[in-house]
Amino acid sequence: MNKLILNFKSKELKRIKNSKNYLGGKGANLSEMGKMGLPVPPGFTISTKVCEIFYKDKKKLNLKIVNQIKKELKVIEKDVAKKFGDLKNPLLLSVRSGARVSMPGMMDTILNLGLNDKTVIALANKTSNGRFAKDSYRRFIQMYGNVVLGVESHHFEELIENYKLTKGVLLDTDLDEQDWDGLIKNFKDVVREKTNKEFPQDIYQQLFGAISAVFLSWESDRAKVYRKLNQIPSEWGTAVNVQSMVFGNMGNDCATGVVFTRNPSDGSNDIYGEYLINAQGEDVVAGTRTPQYITKKAKNEAGVNDPSMEETMPKVYKELNKILKKLEKHYKDMQDVEFTVENNKLWILQTRSGKRTSKSSVKIAVDMVKEKLISKSDAILRVDPNSLDTLLHPTLDEKSTIEVIANGLPASPGAASGKVVFSSEEAERLNDMMQDTILVRVETSPEDIQGMHAAKGILTARGGMTSHAAVVARGMGRPCVSGSSEIDINYEKKLFKTSSIEVKEGETITIDGSTGRIILGSVPTVKPEISGDFSKLMSWADNVRKLNVRTNSETPLDTKIARDFGAEGIGLCRTEHMFFDEERILSVREMILSKTKEDRADALKKLLPHQKDDFKEIFKIMHGLPVTVRLLDPPLHEFLPKSEKEISEVANIVGADIKEVKTRIEELHEQNPMLGHRGCRLGISFPEIYEMQCRAIFEALADLKKNKYKSAFPEIMIPLVSTEAEIRIMKNLVINTAKKVQDENKTKIKFLVGTMIELPRAAIKAKDIAKHAEFFSFGTNDLTQTTFGISRDDSGKFLNDYIDNKIFSIDPFVSIDEGVEDLIELAVTKGKNQNKKIKLGICGEHGGDPKSIYFCSKAGLHYVSCSPYRVPIARLAAAQAELKKISKTLKGN
Ligand code: PEP
Ligand code: MG
Repeated sequence: MNKLILNFKSKELKRIKNSKNYLGGKGANLSEMGKMGLPVPPGFTISTKVCEIFYKDKKKLNLKIVNQIKKELKVIEKDVAKKFGDLKNPLLLSVRSGARVSMPGMMDTILNLGLNDKTVIALANKTSNGRFAKDSYRRFIQMYGNVVLGVESHHFEELIENYKLTKGVLLDTDLDEQDWDGLIKNFKDVVREKTNKEFPQDIYQQLFGAISAVFLSWESDRAKVYRKLNQIPSEWGTAVNVQSMVFGNMGNDCATGVVFTRNPSDGSNDIYGEYLINAQGEDVVAGTRTPQYITKKAKNEAGVNDPSMEETMPKVYKELNKILKKLEKHYKDMQDVEFTVENNKLWILQTRSGKRTSKSSVKIAVDMVKEKLISKSDAILRVDPNSLDTLLHPTLDEKSTIEVIANGLPASPGAASGKVVFSSEEAERLNDMMQDTILVRVETSPEDIQGMHAAKGILTARGGMTSHAAVVARGMGRPCVSGSSEIDINYEKKLFKTSSIEVKEGETITIDGSTGRIILGSVPTVKPEISGDFSKLMSWADNVRKLNVRTNSETPLDTKIARDFGAEGIGLCRTEHMFFDEERILSVREMILSKTKEDRADALKKLLPHQKDDFKEIFKIMHGLPVTVRLLDPPLHEFLPKSEKEISEVANIVGADIKEVKTRIEELHEQNPMLGHRGCRLGISFPEIYEMQCRAIFEALADLKKNKYKSAFPEIMIPLVSTEAEIRIMKNLVINTAKKVQDENKTKIKFLVGTMIELPRAAIKAKDIAKHAEFFSFGTNDLTQTTFGISRDDSGKFLNDYIDNKIFSIDPFVSIDEGVEDLIELAVTKGKNQNKKIKLGICGEHGGDPKSIYFCSKAGLHYVSCSPYRVPIARLAAAQAELKKISKTLKGN
């Protein structure tokens, strides 16, 4: 068995296989840097296994673990020649959480642990710097009080702010030793008042309290939300890193900072970051002081005066630069590095793969191939397909007139318009009502994560490019403008002011996360271009993937967008969606409500030319490519007239009175329309509807041929089939209609007839169905619904309970469930047994989900079909699926 607790320099590290799983990302990288000989403060990692044991032991650290931690502490003490709790030369510690992937929802860091009323004096004496010692102690009470003891941080912050007001100073750095002495006393009073206990003076109680708090934070509400949003399994657990402190707040030859090895916003190959002189780590991310730039170039570009680190600490800057190069070469990826300078000595506190915008993710991957740092396959695997979403969405139309009311930092690109809200709750409330919002906060904290997700964009008044808002927004792909000191927020009055204007809650603004502009009102947007690095990466992906990517589309506009995004045909054209048009819906209602065949024929006659024109347009756009047209599949309730106005309109057309129409609506009412008279059941009851649709398809094709247009290849798809007889009868109908149109037009038309597999019976009886179907398209929306017996329209109401209770790790309507996978595999095998050449695809929403695409590739499908904007995502995911399959086969050998 592996050791439960490992020093960064432990020889045992070599034996550990998946070190990130065992030591967490932070721990694994700290020991890796140790091995590389980089200046890392000594420390150890308490493994994720201990997290598991902690929860098994009813959230307690058992004696064996406590003793091992004490033993490892001795090793650090020896290393740095300081002693924990010593009254001459005390060792102080940092305690940091570290899951396999970085998780902003969790407890992050406690610094300066080991200080109490006595050791603080020792630290002051040892460093001959009383101000520094007291500053560190108040920080510790503040952090520990908040994170471990649960005292809200604003209680402490308010004390500092009020004190500074009374003293008439602006900055924390203006406060001296005596000032902090007074505040320390006040902080301890706050702790006593809020927790009914004294602030712990026992340093071991402090240490084990902090370690337990890290483990407990794994199950905090915020962490759970983050896990859910990012599909992180709850079994992973977190590790804890305990490290000896180094100090960036000892004076002006000290500093602390965060730096990326490349620009995380645009991907350019320049180091990019921020630092603060005489400060500790949390000052940079908390946004309480405005950080300065690391490089002279970034400082000049931003047009600010505060000197860069390159200018203030040139020697340390050079060393930092060298280390960053080394780290990037070692990890072959852009790194996000935290550092501290203590009396001009550089220490590296952490490195991890840097979060980046989608744009920079693509650029960095392509550049690194050019630099021969990684292969094309690596580049394909590097980019998260889902992250491309932000690149594919519209940006501000620069031609429109805009009123810029303020500016901030371009923290996460993309444009978003919405109503101003000042709380996460309000963002969530309006999101439930389908309203777009911009969440405006002084700064965000992990509590805001749900609101940030619910909002279309995020605007903060404080904080830099590495603030919580910026990092989380980039990760989520939400546009964000951070650190806009030009806005002054008043939460109480629910408004913000700029120098020229007052904006109240509910008013609409637009933020441009690519430039930092804050604009009044909403602004039109333009479609993004697919070019440059993006198209290069896509072309590499296309060379690798075997799965074809089609689109689900039924309008010429969507079809065109999908074609431009690289769709290789249409996998699902939902013909009922073509009926929602205002002009047509009346005829559709007329058709549905008709009592006699003749009445229905009249209504269908009116619909035929519309359908034909639509098909012509779509077939032209997709020329040379397959287009799967699905015959009518509406759960009827979607089309029935609801309002009095709609009912009277229909009554007018069909020449009936309103009462009669209402009676007919009642007759048609179904208790369970999703399992009702829909799909091919309609075709069986009213074959004339399907005949009209087939006629529209074939006449469209005949017309195009006559007029020498290039056209698409039609595949006619019968929905909701569960028996062999249904597909047999429907196929005959299609073939007979085709024959008639061909004879009338004296032409020949090639086409396929196939079915959707969206009912468990269809999957089980796939062999019989394949006797008639020339293709199967898996309709995984209905297949999921019917496999679980869970209504796809109502699951949202209880899905969260299922995720909270770990029954589902992820929404099965988003990523294919394994039971549904089994049905698909069964249908594939049976279908192929009957017909070796059967074409296989998927057209449920899962066709655009990377995880499900991997399954489709393994299951041997020929294509996936998804909504137009997901086409590039699917192209990349299909390439990744292929590469992952290859690497699995290699490992298997
Ligand atoms: C499906 O059921 O997966 C499907 C694509 O059809 P629809 O969503 O139109 O029911
Ligand atoms: Mg369906």
